[in-house]
Amino acid sequence: MSDPLKAKRMGAVKQITSHSNPIVKEIKGLVAQRKHRTQSGLFVAEGLKLATDALEAGWTVRYLALGPEARENPLAQKAAATAKARGALILEVNTAVLSAMTRKDNPQTVVGVYEQKTQAIESIDPTNSTVWVALDRVRDPGNLGTIIRTVDAVGASGVILVGDCTDPFAVETVRATMGSLFHVPIVKSDKERFKKLVATWPGTVAATHLKGSVDYRTPDYREPVLLVMGNEQQGLEQDMADACKTLIRIPQVGEADSLNLAVATGVSLYEIRRKHLDL
Ligand code: SAM
Repeated sequence: MSDPLKAKRMGAVKQITSHSNPIVKEIKGLVAQRKHRTQSGLFVAEGLKLATDALEAGWTVRYLALGPEARENPLAQKAAATAKARGALILEVNTAVLSAMTRKDNPQTVVGVYEQKTQAIESIDPTNSTVWVALDRVRDPGNLGTIIRTVDAVGASGVILVGDCTDPFAVETVRATMGSLFHVPIVKSDKERFKKLVATWPGTVAATHLKGSVDYRTPDYREPVLLVMGNEQQGLEQDMADACKTLIRIPQVGEADSLNLAVATGVSLYEIRRKHLDL
């Protein structure tokens, strides 16, 4: 798909009042379909906080849409000035156009379009890492966003998406990260390359598993740690579990079959990072 944003003059301000403007259509496509995000390498993040996080963390903003309220807000004005100075196109829009872009009745007054950023698995340096969380075929955008946020909160190094995962740049995922997407490295890998990393990992490899025989509170979690989590429906694939050797389990006493993936990741991460986290 061609990228109409590239063709526009960047580092400028443009007023848009029509829903049928090509940029509005392009943003709708980025919100609605992974195909559009993949082809353009762009994604949408809603809200002033996320715009501020993105700019602070040095992500490339293609453009920033400001509704009427945002244009009166000094923080939004500052974000727009920074984005413009870095070459973004600033869009002044009305609430109806913001609604159309985001497909929401009550849209945020700032909407940004950013360039995606992911890393190859070969770029991971275990000697400079705390904990990497590997997710085997994570499907739920809310789970992925919550995990990215928790990885940020505990000072873990990043997230490795193994196999066919939900899109880290989907609007629901980005929203659930609450801005942490802009601070947490995301790696994409196939299973074979990930298993190679496991085989050479110099620290602790711990996979969570419902059949695990090791209480998650007992390992000493020598860093760097590789924490491996299973898919929401099927858990961890057998060959992945075999590659990881240590299978840890979080005890449960009620009738629930398992914990939610993001909750299990959070509980494990807080145990792994316990001695590094002080109030
Ligand atoms: N039906 C799936 C199964 O049999 O594994 C349930 C998967 S569970 C919803 C998603 C992931 O969360 C699991 O693969 C595991 O990584 C983690 N998990 C959930 N509860 C856990 C527990 N009590 N102990 C260890 N890991 C757990």
